[in-house]
This record gives sequence, C-alpha cells and structure tokens, in this order.
Amino acid sequence: MIPFVDLGAQYRAIQPQVEKAVLRVLRSGQYILGPEVAALEAELAAFVGVAHCISCASGTDALVMALMAKGVGAGDAVFTTPFTFMASAEAIALAGATPVFVDIDAASFNMDPAKLQDAVGRCVASEALRPVGIIPVDLFGLPADYPAIDAIAKEHGLFVIEDAAQSFGARLDNRRAGALAEIACTSFFPAKPLGGYGDGGAIFVNDAELDAVLRSIRVHGQGSDRYEHVRLGITGRLDAVQAAILRVKLGVFEDELDKRQTVASEYDRRIADAEIALETPLVAANQLSAWAQYSVLAIDAAARQAMQARLAAAGVPTAIYYPKPLHLQAAFADLGYGPGDFPVSEDVGSRIFSLPMHPYLEAGTIATIVQAMRD
Ligand SMILES: *Cc1c(COP(=O)(O)O)cnc(C)c1O
Repeated sequence: MIPFVDLGAQYRAIQPQVEKAVLRVLRSGQYILGPEVAALEAELAAFVGVAHCISCASGTDALVMALMAKGVGAGDAVFTTPFTFMASAEAIALAGATPVFVDIDAASFNMDPAKLQDAVGRCVASEALRPVGIIPVDLFGLPADYPAIDAIAKEHGLFVIEDAAQSFGARLDNRRAGALAEIACTSFFPAKPLGGYGDGGAIFVNDAELDAVLRSIRVHGQGSDRYEHVRLGITGRLDAVQAAILRVKLGVFEDELDKRQTVASEYDRRIADAEIALETPLVAANQLSAWAQYSVLAIDAAARQAMQARLAAAGVPTAIYYPKPLHLQAAFADLGYGPGDFPVSEDVGSRIFSLPMHPYLEAGTIATIVQAMRD
C-alpha cells in the first residue's frame, strides 16, 4: 500500500536531529513554553515575515484565541466558507459568534469574493446579526483572494483572520501565508505542511498590542503576574517537545516545499498526458501552493467512486475533503441552512478527491498512481 502522507519517510530523513532535540528537552526540565518555544516563535515569525508569532496548542485554539482577542460575542456574524475543515466555523461558534457561510469559487475552492459581498450586504440589510469579521481559508494550501476580500472588509469595517492551517509556506505575490491578514492562524497537526509529532498551532500578527493580548489569552487571561487574570483565556500553550521537533522540521521545510511543487507538477503533467477525465488544481501565476492536498475533480459522483475503487484495488489510498459541507452538518443545524444553499460547495463535495501528496513521493510512484487511474 502506498502511504497517503509518508511521515515515516520524513522521519527517516531527519531522525538523528529530531531525537537529539527531543532528548535536549527531556533533559532540560522545562516542558511547557520556555526557551525552546521562544526560539521556535522567533524562527517562525522570521520565516513568515511578521513581527510576532504566538505558538499555541492547536490550529483550532489559534482561531478561537484570535476571535477572543477580537472580542467577538453573541449577535456577531463572522463569514467563512462551508467547504473547509470543521474548525474554521466551529471556532466562530465556540467564541460565541455566529458563522455565516459564503460559497466557494469553483476553480480555487476558496471563498468567492463576489458571494462575500452579497452575504455581507444581506447581513447588513437583515439587521439580525452585526457583521464583524471574515475568516478566509487557504484551502489545500492555496491562498485565498485577499486583495478582493480586504476591499470588502475595509468597506464594511470588518476584521480578517487568515485560516492558514493548510497553507504554511504558501505565497501570494511576495507575501507568505501567515502574513496575508491582520491575524493569521496555522496548525502543526502532523499531516499539515509543517507538522509536529502531536498537536500544535501558531498565530501571526504585526501589532504589538494584539501580540500581548494573545499571550495573555494563551494562559487564562493572565495579567502582570500568574494569579492575576485580566480577561478570560484558555490553556492554549505549546509544549517544548513539539517546539524542538518543529524547529528541526522548519530547517528542512523550504526543501520539502520545493519537493511538493515537483510532485504537483509531475501529477499535472502525467494526468494531462494520460488524458484522464479529471480537473487538476489551478494555481495562479501570483500564487505558490503549500500543497497540503493535491485534490482533483471527477466528472460526477459515480466517476469519482469508480476512480477511487480502481485506485484502492491498486493499493493507492485516496481521501475526500470534504464529503459533507459544514452547512449540512448536524452540529450547525440550528443555523437553519439546507441543501441547495451553497451549490458550488455541494457540487465540489460530490466530485472531489485527493491523491497521495507529500514531499517524499517519488516520480515512479506518481507514474504508478496515474497508470492505475487510466487502467
Ligand atoms: C486542520 C485545520 C484546522 C485546525 O487545526 P488543528 O490543529 O487540527 O486544531 C483549522 N482549519 C483548517 C482549514 C484545517 O485544515
């Protein structure tokens, strides 16, 4: 069986450095925050090109903390897409606000700015909720259309929080993912482009005041000393073992990012040459994808099912991100959405599937995968 994400191959490539780093932490006696975490934060901020990085316990915590720092609450509307991982919208609800869904663009799978404009307009007109912010998601590693989204945000006085959980390392023009909005959140879940060996996440900001508020929220709203609490917060800290591992992984990350580009172009070329009836991912000239996933569209649901079955028989795993859009999930039933509300998300969800994608995928394996789809 070909692995979908080969974390074993990555571990073999960096094993001595990782084991040395973990041992260093075990012997240091400091296991939560501390110098290892501070060093990682400085390195991540430099990589992304922002002033401050606040590491935290997960990508979900990063989003919740960002929304808490923005002070959202009951009656506030925060716009995001229904075609994303649960956490993007879940964080909005956990922070006490209401997720308002906006359909995606059929080519990029990211928030469609024209539909955002409509949704904000409808929200303002209905007066039921107060529009306060937008969480665009850089799905599968591809940055959303921030210039268009920012223009709408500015017009209506909305904040923008980048959900960069899948796009660490990506670029839009000369900016890195993580630097595409006032606040950006990423995840270090093992299968993400920069993954640890456990849970972790980070928030990126340029503003010093936001940095201070986020650091306070990370430790129960701590004030000037440990048992003074000036606001509500959470247990949002990153542990030192993850930080030490992530520092090693960050050292090889640029190289892995290059390798992911090679894998993606190899798929593009071979699928086109084999004349397989699949739409392959589109990346604009001003974008660089972090290739969290290589996702393709079959003609319809039946074609997808047949293709996945053929691949499984050949020992090739595939995955569907995401089979059920968030507006149709039971957890969001009280938002009152129904089938047909976001037709692009629903159509894409019925036809999309992802092929194995990781930096250590070899050309020969890609050839085998594409051959299996053609047979
Ligand atoms: C993974 C993911 C998250 C949440 O990250 P965790 O570290 O798993 O909590 C949020 N948004 C998106 C788009 C994700 O893919």
